[in-house]
Amino acid sequence: MRENHQIANVDLVKQMNSAVVYKLIDQQGPISRIQISELSQLAPASVTKITRNLLAIGLIKEVEQQQSTGGRRAISIIAERKTFHTVLIHLGHQHISIALMDLSTELLNKERFDLPKFNAISELEHFLQQKLDFFLQNNRSNDTKVIAVGITVAGFVDAKTNSIQSLPHFTLQEPWFLADSIATRFNLMTFVGNDVRSLALAEHYFGVTKDCYDSLLLRIHRGVGAGIVINHEVFGGYKNSAGELGHIQVDPLGKRCMCGNVGCLETVASNVAIENKMQRLLEDGYTSKWLSLESHDIEAICKASQEQDSAAIELIEYVGEQLGRVLAMSVNMFNPEKIVISGEITRAGTVLFSAIRKTLEAHALPRFVESTPLVASELKNEDVIGAFALVKQALVDGSLLQRLLTE
Ligand SMILES: [Zn+2]
Repeated sequence: MRENHQIANVDLVKQMNSAVVYKLIDQQGPISRIQISELSQLAPASVTKITRNLLAIGLIKEVEQQQSTGGRRAISIIAERKTFHTVLIHLGHQHISIALMDLSTELLNKERFDLPKFNAISELEHFLQQKLDFFLQNNRSNDTKVIAVGITVAGFVDAKTNSIQSLPHFTLQEPWFLADSIATRFNLMTFVGNDVRSLALAEHYFGVTKDCYDSLLLRIHRGVGAGIVINHEVFGGYKNSAGELGHIQVDPLGKRCMCGNVGCLETVASNVAIENKMQRLLEDGYTSKWLSLESHDIEAICKASQEQDSAAIELIEYVGEQLGRVLAMSVNMFNPEKIVISGEITRAGTVLFSAIRKTLEAHALPRFVESTPLVASELKNEDVIGAFALVKQALVDGSLLQRLLTE
């Protein structure tokens, strides 16, 4: 519900009705106009009008279906996904990925660029716009249409103003309106979000939490972060950015974290933390058939843990326990329907998951844990699928749809 009860704006009602119809077609198509009318409780005349407009811009199409009772063929409607493309950007610590994905989530192209050193955010913005310019020139075709840009960053984002508030490795003097500047330059609606929160949204649209009312996604990569979905929406909270589980302390005598505190979960469970720990073990003389000073990245460690390498198993189990502790607090706090672990570490399989589960059972309310599945993410294109979810969100909430209908 909206906070201020304004008099219903006619355009807003139109936008919401179009969104309801498109969402039904997208999720349940092939679907007939009569079914849409029944499910949406919109008058058949309204459904006819909305579908006519959506057909005119090509976002939906009619298909003939043989009715089960025989007789004449009925016309149903499905969403058109192949001819509409989205441009997705992930701004990481050292790289930028720019990708092209169609509305069926098929990745059509992806380029990755190293980020040079920048002195000012305007330089970074200029660099990004140049790369995007080339990318769009090379990826536009007459048969398809780019409809929007999605951007994810590893920093804090204000969803209300569509602006970047902070970045982990660059000090922003003021909020960065990158999305607005891209939208103006390329005349495309542009949406920006935090990378982990957007990944939780993608998981909710296309992944293992698809039908869940609420869920928790814990992402372990360069850092550790979480995305909380409540009532089918990513929970940001009044101040945005809820879900910084990576900065819960698990070791009071541990290492200094980039956030300034000591012994955060991130300092023991991030990929880099795990790799550094293994490096120290190898430097101290640990010998392994599967790991060496030259080859001990997270993937090698996960593989070794599955090959009975004792140090790899112990390390993954230790990390699993720390993840389990923090997840137990989260479970007691909001008792999610499902917990998802995302990241390279999930390749350690049962070694990791049984350690997490054991700690969860020891520290969270038994009633809560028993009914909470703990699963690995199965999403592909993890670096850019979150940005796609932002575009998808704008399609199904009507804002992007409205723009396409009025262009
Ligand atoms: Zn921290």
